Amino acid sequence: MIQDTGNTSRRAFLAGSLSAAALRGAQARPSVAITMDDMHWMRLAQPMQVNGRILSIAGRHNLQFALFVIGQNADSDTGRAIVRGWQAAGHLIGNHTWSHRRYAAGMTFEDFSADVLRGDAVLKDSLSSPRLFRFPTLAEGDTVVKRDQMRECLRQHGYRNGHVTIDASDWYYDARLAERLKREPGFDVKRFRQPYLDHLWERAQFYDGLSRRVLGRSVPHTLLIHYNLLNSLFLEDVLGMFIQRGWRIAGAGETFQDAVFQRSPNSMPSGQSLLWALAKESGKFDSELRYPGEDDVYEKPKLDRLGL
Ligand SMILES: [Zn+2]
Repeated sequence: MIQDTGNTSRRAFLAGSLSAAALRGAQARPSVAITMDDMHWMRLAQPMQVNGRILSIAGRHNLQFALFVIGQNADSDTGRAIVRGWQAAGHLIGNHTWSHRRYAAGMTFEDFSADVLRGDAVLKDSLSSPRLFRFPTLAEGDTVVKRDQMRECLRQHGYRNGHVTIDASDWYYDARLAERLKREPGFDVKRFRQPYLDHLWERAQFYDGLSRRVLGRSVPHTLLIHYNLLNSLFLEDVLGMFIQRGWRIAGAGETFQDAVFQRSPNSMPSGQSLLWALAKESGKFDSELRYPGEDDVYEKPKLDRLGL
């Protein structure tokens, strides 16, 4: 991206002579949009303060986030106030089912689609356009038949999959932080900062590398993190880290317009990061694709070692 130099003639010169190499350079600078899931405000001691902190971070950076809301978390005065605040600030609101049950073995298409539509009934006046839906834990169905039934159901109801390209385990870092604070109320929360940033950066590098190798380009990324205490404490640092390391923080709406988000990979197990699924579909990366793509078991040894 060429910075505005404030010098018209220089800008005109650059625009007229932008070489193919410069264009490639511009495209090679990765971008990432922030998408937050669940809206578990009831787990927070001071939900409205935490909500205000998250919204003010977005506001300071002039960013549009996406919030994927569990319907039952929005079906109360506080829940509705939070969703309204996000909507008023111009963020995207997506459906994340009513109850957050996984579309996995034991969950039928009929039950799961009913849960999606129950979420839709609560959120329909708040949903942004185009309508976005995100699967709980990114589980898109344990059989091809169930996966494809749900793809058709979402299409019929005007939904697109609110795909994640960079998946991570921020929820586990948050759970460890919550446990620690319960045991030790005076615990210095800042001790989680660097391990959490390192984790996100490592995952971003992995998925961006996958994007370049599978698709030949760095797609505009959607990072999945959760609406929780951890991110209310460190989201500003997360944005700062990406910016400092040369990434651009992009708006969620702009990001979801990229053609990659219309892809429906024909791979099983379904779900995971969209890039994981596209890599799986290609059949060329199986040795590098752990399943699930992200989980607490990968992070536990690190946090144990750090005494966190
Ligand atoms: Zn979720």
